[in-house]
Amino acid sequence: MSERNIDVEAHVKAMVGREYGRVYAWDPVNQPMIRQWCEAMGNKSILYHDPAFAAQSIHGEPVAPPTMMQAWTLAGLNGESPPGSSTVNPYEAVEFLANNGFPVNVAVNSEHEYFRYLRLGESLCFTSMLESVSDLKRTALGTGYFVTNLMTFMTTEGEKVGTMRFRLFVYRPHQVSDSAQSKAEQPAAVQPRRPHPGISQDTRFFWDGLKEGRLLIQKCGACGELRHPPGPTCPHCHSFKWEAIQASGRGIIHSFVVMHHPQVAGIESPNPVLLVELEEGTRLVAGLAGIKYSEVEIGMPVQVEFLRTDEELVVPVFRPI
Ligand code: ZN
Repeated sequence: MSERNIDVEAHVKAMVGREYGRVYAWDPVNQPMIRQWCEAMGNKSILYHDPAFAAQSIHGEPVAPPTMMQAWTLAGLNGESPPGSSTVNPYEAVEFLANNGFPVNVAVNSEHEYFRYLRLGESLCFTSMLESVSDLKRTALGTGYFVTNLMTFMTTEGEKVGTMRFRLFVYRPHQVSDSAQSKAEQPAAVQPRRPHPGISQDTRFFWDGLKEGRLLIQKCGACGELRHPPGPTCPHCHSFKWEAIQASGRGIIHSFVVMHHPQVAGIESPNPVLLVELEEGTRLVAGLAGIKYSEVEIGMPVQVEFLRTDEELVVPVFRPI
């Protein structure tokens, strides 16, 4: 570890224990959000769907699923919380590390603890505390620090209802050489390798096909249905028999997102991620070629190309035609 790293570590560890003020919920606990949450999560518990049942339950009234705790206090799509909320970034330790040689982060785990059920009409808020910063660790991803933030959820009257620990690994990828890193903010001399997909017996044909310049789609050997992503059984008839057909490679952009954060080592940022509907009918997630991410439009006709990212990996990208 260089002198510089020792300074960085001392600085970030001095932040441990820092507390961040209240952030309020936009809406009180309410039945419409409970219903939508349960729909999205596939939670069919009658307790959350039938107020009459809830009234006769041990709770004596409708309650919210405890796992919704954080949902009540999330900022809106524009990232804004209600007036009166703290605007200090509770992840300033992560930001500091990002600016001092540890540019990448990944969520590691999240632990919830619930003190009681939430009832309709209750208004929530939370406070945060930087609970811990680990010593410098080497992992398969890279070298960095585990940063744990503790959020405490409470009613606006101050009654604590639960906590959430959120842990991030904030790191620099292995391939960025130490000498490049210590010259602060200079681009790394060695580019990190793009992460590889997990390839199984079920999906190997797809990736092997790409290396041969062929975009393959799995076809059920019994009922003939096409499917993607690949899997061992047909979702329509449950047959294990399958073969692969070669797609034309033509399709349209069905949807897309542009990923700005977090940055992934080895992938250019911002990163446009396309959902392409092939003319055969299946859809796949792929990269973009030929135009800027800001020019992408839903419905654009596209054609596959094969991008070799290193000696072992070829990924599909699509270029507008
Ligand atoms: Zn089938």
